[in-house]
Amino acid sequence: MSDRKRIGVFGGTFDPIHFGHVHLLTELLNSKKFDDIIVIPAGDPWQKNPKVPGEYRFEMTQIALKELPLKVSDLEIKRNGPTYALDTYQELEALYGEQDFVWIIGSDVVNSLSSWHEIERLAQSVEFLVVKRPHSKVDVTNVPAFVKYSEIEVNALDISATQVRNALANGDVLAGLIPDNVAQFIKSKGLYGAA
Ligand code: ATP
Repeated sequence: MSDRKRIGVFGGTFDPIHFGHVHLLTELLNSKKFDDIIVIPAGDPWQKNPKVPGEYRFEMTQIALKELPLKVSDLEIKRNGPTYALDTYQELEALYGEQDFVWIIGSDVVNSLSSWHEIERLAQSVEFLVVKRPHSKVDVTNVPAFVKYSEIEVNALDISATQVRNALANGDVLAGLIPDNVAQFIKSKGLYGAA
């Protein structure tokens, strides 16, 4: 039997982290599919345009997940330049040795995998786990044949960071969207136009 660990890697912009992410991680922990899960806020997610700096997104992620048995890593926010998953994989392998790394992605992301930097090299070393999100079909028509992936259904919550940012900017009620301690952090720093 292999003594390699199965390590789930959940990257994202987390701008901000919300209950959709927390719920997904809780379900993945309960599924016992992984020996470890590492959550990694992106430093410079070049396909997105974060509204707040990486340090704040990292801190909010830590605050939101502090009760869960997983690790939040600052590896990507510490790296200069555009955030590429291949660099992250190489850093993780240097830290943890040769393990079975599984990149966890939402169904909205799967269709853009082909545009990821050096996806062919990355896909030689990692597998993907695709989580179905509400209103987003798992459309794998553009996923290159060399990508190994499986799918999981976790009854994902219908929440996005876009919706949270809009609610904050409009002064709408945040109940059920983000943890209270994250809301307090956002208000204390005056992020996203929060009053
Ligand atoms: P935005 O609305 O700004 O595009 P987002 O809500 O998609 O943000 P990200 O931080 O970009 O949040 O997402 C990180 C990862 O989490 C992605 O793989 C995304 O598909 C996944 N994800 C985001 N929201 C959910 C959700 N409600 N349920 C399951 N997965 C989610």
